[in-house]
Amino acid sequence: MAMLRMACPHCGEEGAIHEAYMGRTVPCPKCRQEFAVSPFQLGRGGHGEGNGQAVTSLVLGLIGLLAWIIPLFGFPVTIVGLVKGRRSLAWTNTSLARAGVTLCIIGLVLTGINSAVGAYLGATNQHPAFRSTICAPAPELPRHY
Ligand SMILES: [Zn+2]
Repeated sequence: MAMLRMACPHCGEEGAIHEAYMGRTVPCPKCRQEFAVSPFQLGRGGHGEGNGQAVTSLVLGLIGLLAWIIPLFGFPVTIVGLVKGRRSLAWTNTSLARAGVTLCIIGLVLTGINSAVGAYLGATNQHPAFRSTICAPAPELPRHY
């Protein structure tokens, strides 16, 4: 028994499925829509699908290079990008996929450093955003806030 590579016909999510599921209807792990495992779908996740994941990874990596400024935003962006990039590397070992993974790792490291510095500054009361909210009352905010 072997695992077969295939892609969801609804959303294109790639995955490996046990060949025992051949001919059965299974729900997609991503979009939850059911589809029949057929020989026609096998191998659909070739170069095209892998490149799609690589592009997503690369774009997320680029966003991550900006998003790391806000750790809450930077973490999910770079982690998703990393997962997508690694998945695309599994399908196609292209320079595009490697670039995406590299960018996401850089973004993730920057996010980690930023959140660590932010936590330290916040804990020692040096955080600029923290200080301004304490020292300067914001008149434009509603009273009940
Ligand atoms: Zn799907």
